[in-house]
Amino acid sequence: MEMDLTTLRAESRRLAVELVKVLAARREIVNKIAEHKKTLGVEAVAPDVEKEVRRAMLEEAAKHGIPEETINRIATIIFSDAVEQQTSTPKQKLTHFDILRRAVELQKNGREVQRLEVGEPDLGAPPEVRHSAANALLEGYARYIDSRGLAELRAQIVNQVYEKHGFEITPENVVITPGGRFAIYLAAKTLLREGDELLVIDPSWPMYRQVAPFVGARSVHVKTLFEDGWTPSIDAVERHISSSTKAIILNYPNNPTGKILDRTTFNKLVELATDHGITVISDEVYADYVRDGHVSILDNDLGKQHVLIQSFSKSYGMTGYRIGYVIADKNLVAKMASIIGLVITCVPEFIQRGALTALGLRDAPKEYAAIMMRRMEKAVHELEKIGAEFYRPDGGMYVFPRIGKLGEDAMATAFELLESKGVAVAPGSLFGGYDDFIRISLGAPDESIVKGIRLLGEFIAEKGRARG
Ligand code: PMP
Repeated sequence: MEMDLTTLRAESRRLAVELVKVLAARREIVNKIAEHKKTLGVEAVAPDVEKEVRRAMLEEAAKHGIPEETINRIATIIFSDAVEQQTSTPKQKLTHFDILRRAVELQKNGREVQRLEVGEPDLGAPPEVRHSAANALLEGYARYIDSRGLAELRAQIVNQVYEKHGFEITPENVVITPGGRFAIYLAAKTLLREGDELLVIDPSWPMYRQVAPFVGARSVHVKTLFEDGWTPSIDAVERHISSSTKAIILNYPNNPTGKILDRTTFNKLVELATDHGITVISDEVYADYVRDGHVSILDNDLGKQHVLIQSFSKSYGMTGYRIGYVIADKNLVAKMASIIGLVITCVPEFIQRGALTALGLRDAPKEYAAIMMRRMEKAVHELEKIGAEFYRPDGGMYVFPRIGKLGEDAMATAFELLESKGVAVAPGSLFGGYDDFIRISLGAPDESIVKGIRLLGEFIAEKGRARG
């Protein structure tokens, strides 16, 4: 006899609860695996094992006509849960903003502090930009405008892309965003759905690992090593690709290592992504801060599958203006613009007018880059003097030296360095567990960088002696 609705509902409820019990049983097993891994010293994430489980799940799903997408999402959720369960290190609560806050506090109390922790150039916007934005505000360019951005600014970006890369795009490929950070959020929000995976190459800027869960997705990390010059192995990247991988973030010049990939490796990564139907999000906010040129996603055929992230923060020192842009396929751009429209209506027009003036200043990015590269030379020289190991940056505004394990906890060591020597840095633990490294920012005056590194040398020596 047919079951009535009440019975059917009760049965469906029972099965939903059953699902939780199955999950609980799996968690127990995961705990046991974690124990084994600990004794063997094996990493928590095992892409090959995950892949096999996912395959088996999909095979079973196919028998029952369950859509692949549904299973992919469930697989991603249980894998992230398992990794979280197995990662014994407690979630890092302190960030480098805490270091920043403490550094400011110390300065307020009259302490001299070398501020090498902030990822912000100290240069400020060129005077022409300041006047242009201020005048635009006074002239009343302060009303709602197109959420995609000012037509003149987008047109100018189109022109410069053609000039620099010989690549034709249209204004429909460009959306103006409130900074590069928001641009990355827009990329994540439009490309990733619940349960999808975002590939990130470590060491990496912390936002990448934060933005994926923020949109319900998961970030999967491919480690690179100092010993390999921070070059990712194509095989390793491929091994981390699953049927849930929707995007990969590339960030060259890199924060924190200063690495720029050689063209061959960069192109291989782009090809690999394209072959797997994965979107490349290329965060090129440091593109102007280079020693000998830079490899851009725009040097390739942009195609439908690439997203460029750009910002006025670094090239023009416009951090507090909050303005950047995305170049991508027009459908994706339209989606991003509709989010901007929904959430903030538009980036203020007087800010966009300031940015338009900035684009007209062809020498400003070169001048800023020259300052950064000069500081880089000084930092490199000082680091060599204290005998630290580091990859000599190709660009960007950071150096990422290995200082070794000076304490149990990298963040605590960074705080100790701040308290004892008055030097603020970002610990390597923030960039994907590189506890032996610290990030030194070149966003501070030359004297500060030199003095900071000398004091760091003293700190390392004293810690070394204390440990015998
Ligand atoms: N990407 C990277 C790699 C960064 O380091 C930063 C700033 N620290 C940004 C994007 C975003 O900068 P903004 O939001 O100021 O444009």
